Amino acid sequence: MTINIEKIREDFPILKKEVYGKPLVYFDNAATTQKPTCVVDTIVKGYYDCNANIHRGVHFLSQQATEAHEAARKTVQQFIHAQHAHEIVFTRGTTEAINLVAHSFGISQCSDGDEIIITQMEHHSNIVPWQLLQSIRNIRLRIIPFDEKGVLQVNQLESLINEKTKLIAVSHVSNALGSINPIKEIVKIAHAHDIPVLVDGAQSTPHISIDVQDLDVDFFAFSGHKIYGPTGIGVLYGKEKWLEKIPPYQGGGEMIHKVTFENTTFNELPFKFEAGTPDYIGSTALAAALDYVSAIGIENIAQHEHELLHYATEKLSQIDGMRFIGESDSKSGLISFLVGNIHPYDLGTILDKLGIAVRTGHHCAEPVMQAFHIEGTVRASFAMYNTKEEIDILVAGIERAAKMFRR
Ligand code: PMP
Repeated sequence: MTINIEKIREDFPILKKEVYGKPLVYFDNAATTQKPTCVVDTIVKGYYDCNANIHRGVHFLSQQATEAHEAARKTVQQFIHAQHAHEIVFTRGTTEAINLVAHSFGISQCSDGDEIIITQMEHHSNIVPWQLLQSIRNIRLRIIPFDEKGVLQVNQLESLINEKTKLIAVSHVSNALGSINPIKEIVKIAHAHDIPVLVDGAQSTPHISIDVQDLDVDFFAFSGHKIYGPTGIGVLYGKEKWLEKIPPYQGGGEMIHKVTFENTTFNELPFKFEAGTPDYIGSTALAAALDYVSAIGIENIAQHEHELLHYATEKLSQIDGMRFIGESDSKSGLISFLVGNIHPYDLGTILDKLGIAVRTGHHCAEPVMQAFHIEGTVRASFAMYNTKEEIDILVAGIERAAKMFRR
């Protein structure tokens, strides 16, 4: 089935916007996606019609809001094919989900001298939490490198593993390179040594069908706002056995079973990890976004974005001085590039004046930039609503900018 882009674009009112008198061309989807009407409507309806603090409320509205929040958990469970709904923990996003694991897994499962393996292409969100852990446990970070095309050197993983390795934490898709990492292969190697795997799914969940049971990952994190949902809500999936084993991350609210001044016992999963008033409006809006994606079909979205990636790569490669950063054969719909010696910020600024939104800089993946000895790149990232015509506008815009700099 091919998807009806025109119809999809109708669902995203912001795409009709003009910027500096030019039609908006939005290619900053890896940073955040736009929101369809159904998601915004769910937020509005939530506050207008169904707003009360959830759990423990005896009254009608509270029960209604609780049901919506727990139904959202089930929607997430089904979307990523988790075995149990209680393996879904709502967080503020990928960053908070990884911080939760770094802290709770870190303090309970790691001792001084232990090692955590990450990759050279991680977002800062999967580097810094482990460095914060280093102030509590003297752990060492080991790094799986990538090659000049941005392909992860999984064949080096085995040599990084030893009896001190406690966890492997890797991104599914790199937000700076677009490379899709072979999670199943990594998990197979890790599990052969009884090492759990955490996957940063921030850039994969919006583009690739996720089956956490098939991938056999132990933890999986993603953000609502990158998959057409609201900001401020995200998900940590954890296998039941791990979520049972590790302690709470934050205290207060519904995460307790019983509190005295001497001692506190903790609630069952997943509430043990959801301290304070949860974002029950955000969770229901995230569920609306996932339902929207499911109705269109993640496979159809993937196919469309793949076509855009190929079309854009082909067209951009014809520009004089074009240099792609990240040329893996297995790429998601984003392109990081430089043109001649034009500074990415300058190129991004000119494109902006033409109504084209791209991201410039290090994309919170400074080690990637360090590996290429560059300061940053220009990044165009695609979503289901993007079109080939928009790519033509981008290409024309870059050519125009390049001409100005060549003068
Ligand atoms: N990991 C990756 C690969 C990302 O691209 C991002 C967002 N740029 C994050 C983590 C962090 O996501 P959030 O800011 O939603 O927590």
